[in-house]
Amino acid sequence: MKSSNPKICPICGGTEFESKLRTSRFGTPYHCLKCGSGERQRAIWKIYDKIPKEILKKSKALQFSNDNSVDRNAFASFEVSVYGGDNSLDMMDIERANESYDWIISNQVLEHVADDTLAVEELLRILSSRGVIHINIPNPAYNLYTNDWGYPDPKIHDHYRHYGSDFLLRIDKALTSAYAIQVVEIDDVTDTLELVYFISKSFNLLVQQIGRSLLTQKCVVLRGK
Ligand SMILES: [Zn+2]
Repeated sequence: MKSSNPKICPICGGTEFESKLRTSRFGTPYHCLKCGSGERQRAIWKIYDKIPKEILKKSKALQFSNDNSVDRNAFASFEVSVYGGDNSLDMMDIERANESYDWIISNQVLEHVADDTLAVEELLRILSSRGVIHINIPNPAYNLYTNDWGYPDPKIHDHYRHYGSDFLLRIDKALTSAYAIQVVEIDDVTDTLELVYFISKSFNLLVQQIGRSLLTQKCVVLRGK
């Protein structure tokens, strides 16, 4: 189904959207005909538009999965790991030295990992002292509690769980020496809420790295201990 939409894609300025194999969670077209973006790409684009470019330009990045939500050219270097494919890394046992990366991106990966707390501990281990972890998971804004059934369900893309807004509480054990903030953004095309969790070893550095404008406007939960 193709329809005109008075809303504008923030990435490319496109104004036409279609439903491909699905619709948005509100039943509306989501796929930008001009740039191919969906809800997640547009919301994350808006978040990164507020992050200081000079910070990204100095950062050595590692991304899990071949996702296109973040501009790879914005970073000093950009390594991609595809589990079971190119440069495969197991997020629960990452074959990299401590403090190897300044920016680690995980979009829609943790729901495929058996032990997500262990995975975040591993991400923090390979994160530099000035580094930032970016985690996006499916739809945490729309459930209060995570439902973890403990196995990869083939009926829903081998996910181990449906996440809820308790995500940071759930991985609390991994955050004993780290700080996390939850940044909420809306995709204006579909009115869908997307969250990115930013995690760092220092709160002051987290503020500097992701930028004050983002924190003051978009930060809804601050957690760390
Ligand atoms: Zn677009």
